[in-house]
Amino acid sequence: QIEFVQALKMPGTGDKKEPEMTESQKKRMSIRECQRSLPIFPFKKDFIAAVNEYQVLIIEGETGSGKTTQIPQYLKEAGFCDDGKKVGCTQPRRVAAMSVAARVAEELGVKLGNEVGYSIRFEDCTSERTLIKYMTDGMLLREFLGEPDLSSYSVMIIDEAHERTLHTDVLFGLIKDIARFRPDLKLLISSATLDAEKFSEFFDEAPIFRIPGRRFPVDIYYTKAPEADYIDACVVTILQIHVTQPLGDVLVFLTGQEEIEACQELLEERVRRLGSKIKELNIRPIYANLPSEMQAKIFEPTPPGARKVVLATNIAETSLTIDNIIYVIDPGFCKENSYNARTGMESLIVTPISKASANQRAGRAGRVAAGKCFRLYTAWAYKNELEDCQRPEIQRVNLGNVVLLLKSLGINDLIHFDFLDPPPHETLVLALEQLYALGALNHKGELTKLGRRMAEFPVDPMMAKMLLASEKYQCSDEILSIAAMLSVNNSIFYRPKDKIIHADKARKDFFVKGGDHLTLLNVYKNWADTGYSDQWCFENYIQHRSMKRARDVREQLEGLMQRVEIEIISNPLETVNIRKTVTAGYFYHTAKLGENGQYRTVKHQQQVMIHPNSALFEDIPRWVIYHELVFTTKEYMRQVIEIESSWLLEVAPHYYKSKDLEDSRTKKMPKTVGKSKEELSRAH
Ligand code: ADP
Ligand code: MG
Repeated sequence: QIEFVQALKMPGTGDKKEPEMTESQKKRMSIRECQRSLPIFPFKKDFIAAVNEYQVLIIEGETGSGKTTQIPQYLKEAGFCDDGKKVGCTQPRRVAAMSVAARVAEELGVKLGNEVGYSIRFEDCTSERTLIKYMTDGMLLREFLGEPDLSSYSVMIIDEAHERTLHTDVLFGLIKDIARFRPDLKLLISSATLDAEKFSEFFDEAPIFRIPGRRFPVDIYYTKAPEADYIDACVVTILQIHVTQPLGDVLVFLTGQEEIEACQELLEERVRRLGSKIKELNIRPIYANLPSEMQAKIFEPTPPGARKVVLATNIAETSLTIDNIIYVIDPGFCKENSYNARTGMESLIVTPISKASANQRAGRAGRVAAGKCFRLYTAWAYKNELEDCQRPEIQRVNLGNVVLLLKSLGINDLIHFDFLDPPPHETLVLALEQLYALGALNHKGELTKLGRRMAEFPVDPMMAKMLLASEKYQCSDEILSIAAMLSVNNSIFYRPKDKIIHADKARKDFFVKGGDHLTLLNVYKNWADTGYSDQWCFENYIQHRSMKRARDVREQLEGLMQRVEIEIISNPLETVNIRKTVTAGYFYHTAKLGENGQYRTVKHQQQVMIHPNSALFEDIPRWVIYHELVFTTKEYMRQVIEIESSWLLEVAPHYYKSKDLEDSRTKKMPKTVGKSKEELSRAH
């Protein structure tokens, strides 16, 4: 049992004379009736009139009012697609882009991918006929490369603007510029709440179109004392609600896939133990890597007498609205990117959410009836420990990608780019420095030919460089597989709790001397040799889903290789060349074994360890390159390969000098790293 104290009531807003809809009423409602019941519906005419009158419009409306699903349809209906031009709508999250597109296709009664489509990284579900196109903000950014004036669009909607993702923030600057020389392009900035004024100011005092909210009151409860294990606390709270509260679905906010799976497992186990003593409980997870047919399940109506529990990441905070949520459980955390510009280290860490997020989350309980929100932290913690708002992403991530893209768009002066909130100066300088070291920029900070080719790839600049280097080392076929496998993020090997020993043995059987990249290649090749068999994955404790994704990614990358005219050449026995190619991209990530048996990164002399799952965990080679650093209890290098120090001089002569690679133990970090920061910033 967890004791909660009720602290306050979040009042409802707007006119709530609308009848509360029960589940079964809702089910009987046709799509048309559903559309008509949305808060935005009565304002359709006014909205279209406003779009006709103003070029830029800020739209503000509570989550679930119908902004994302309805506005593109209204625009199409009002004739904005008549000349064959598209209505585009960006989403910060892949899942949202896919799910919303699917919903709109259903509402319009068309096949997804035809009139209504979506485009996310490594997956384009659109066609010639597409008129309403949902896409991730990152994909729109890439579209600028091929269509700098977005001429195929009549309207662009930057949705979920309040999320302030890196890509959305960059889009603001670009799109504001385009709107100036394309007076026929309509621009809509849509946001859940709060920031509308700020957006309006940025877009030269654009008018704000407010959709009056309609929310029922929500009772907010806090725990009496802090909870040590919030997964367990979630499970206990879910069951407490289930046993003591009237029917109504529950939404739980967790930080990611692992937590969701852990919570689901624990909950299923307790439910099993309770057996028929409790009513039916339908547990539905939702997170970015969940296959789309499973994603759709969260929207399925709950059968009468049962209760649905949705275990979601932040995606359910504003991007997706699940109807009939009455109870929200909020442990108060989310996963956040964080970047240390001094060390160049990037990591995803679980951090406390902001007050703004906490209130958004609570609001999800009041959409269809009065609701309750259970915060798994104390009222004191809310007041004293949570920040008011989250910092925009642009201020806490590596900017390498974005800088390369902006340079490719001919934007040279990044210091004076029109940012809504500018990134920290040192982050910008570090990105320029890294791109210079990779050869993407010359000493004047201008894009090189190599840089132009790198920008073709929707991947990290280091990976782009690696892909391009495979041309020289004649192993593009192998590097494609490695890049694809690296892109599916540590979800290749399946490790069920009750079969850990077998699973680990199966994994070790794939190990290849030389390192994890070669191991991943080995897995991919073996799988391809079976004709991409499911059964083979199952027998070898490999996640079939991840492999399928790797195959898709590989196909996409292969297409891009053709675009930059790199022949696909296989050189299976040459692991030195493969490792040199990896080095050519990731030489920034070099670590060296010291006298004391500890690794230190060459660049920042940071102590790091080989991840226990690595093929090299027991080998301990002198020089290694890692794909990424993860911080758990220690700083671990994940996906590691063995290299020779001389290769560093071969692949990055302007970055490493032979004295950097000497074995003297007293030496600290390399003094000059390419150009000095001062020189570089002066060059801009
Ligand atoms: P907003 O963008 O203002 O937050 P939306 O347009 O996303 O609002 O949501 C409007 C309605 O569409 C909500 O009732 C939501 O439940 C419904 N909806 C959105 N996506 C789906 C889907 N994939 N399946 C079923 N209903 C959906
Ligand atoms: Mg929306």
